[in-house]
Amino acid sequence: MATTGTAATAGTVTTGHAWERTDTGYTGVVADAEWAREIRRLADERDAVLLAHNYQLPEIQDVADHTGDSLALSRIAAASTASTIVFCGVHFMAETAKILGPGKTVLIPDERAGCSLADSITAEQLREWKAGFDDPVVVSYVNTTAEVKAETDICCTSSNAVDVVRSVPADRDVLFCPDQFLGAHVQRETGRENLHVWAGECHVHAGINGPELAERAAANPDADLFIHPECGCATSALYLAGEGTVPEDRVKILSTGQMLDAARETGASSVLVATEVGMLHQLRTAAPEIDFRAVNDRASCRYMKMITPAALLRCLSEGADEVHVPLDVAERAKASVERMIAIGTSGGGE
Ligand code: SF4
Repeated sequence: MATTGTAATAGTVTTGHAWERTDTGYTGVVADAEWAREIRRLADERDAVLLAHNYQLPEIQDVADHTGDSLALSRIAAASTASTIVFCGVHFMAETAKILGPGKTVLIPDERAGCSLADSITAEQLREWKAGFDDPVVVSYVNTTAEVKAETDICCTSSNAVDVVRSVPADRDVLFCPDQFLGAHVQRETGRENLHVWAGECHVHAGINGPELAERAAANPDADLFIHPECGCATSALYLAGEGTVPEDRVKILSTGQMLDAARETGASSVLVATEVGMLHQLRTAAPEIDFRAVNDRASCRYMKMITPAALLRCLSEGADEVHVPLDVAERAKASVERMIAIGTSGGGE
């Protein structure tokens, strides 16, 4: 990863909160009221805006300035007057914020917070794949590294993936990466035979399977089913819904922002949610009268959960980990992201 951090393995801040670096993340800090005050004080001191992805721990979401999906947060980052962006999410998201706002300092509380979907294809693998075709068009889901985006013609979210692929002339081969479930959905929708799909996946989606989804829907016959199409786990659910594995009339394919709107508007008293479990916090806050349940409560992203209270405290006190993207990579990656935004409904990314 194109980042640099400090080598410190432990530290203490003026409040007495002490953090410790372990192999699985930063620990040792309880998210109490004093912690929240210290986080806000340090953020002011650094002229930093705190952004939290919807899949973050509740206490991280609550202390942040903005909570949302990856693209919305990146746009907020680019438009912000703050000189420092603290991106509480996974690494490719912080990279996207840096790509869209190259003049700002972008920090991620733990640079080890990766993404199994983004890691399923490297720039080198993509270059080799491209070399096997005659002038192909590369379409990549936003869950990719900056280097892969730089090798990409058009990025997409699952909201506009079909439109993006349809925008490519019919006689050009399309290489679609890295999510095989989203790729299968696009192939089915477009009927395109010259669409080639990379066999990548998110480790979280593996926890949601067809029989489980169908079983939960059958056991909760009055519940709406909110499926988030952006995350790896949810794109598998999207595929299953398209296959008719769950009844179509109760299935609502929604971005995280649309989920919050739908939660306020639905007449249902219970809702099954097919996405990473961190989203439940936002939904329960938006509509406390509704019984929101995860389709799979094990659908928790360990990378997202590496942004702990200790990691955020250490990030703000040490100014680490800083995210760097080489300028030439950022420029090419930015072009593919901007083409995505120009086509159809871009949605919010993961
Ligand atoms: S939930 Fe999956 S796709 Fe999303 S950040 Fe985690 S590993 Fe990546």
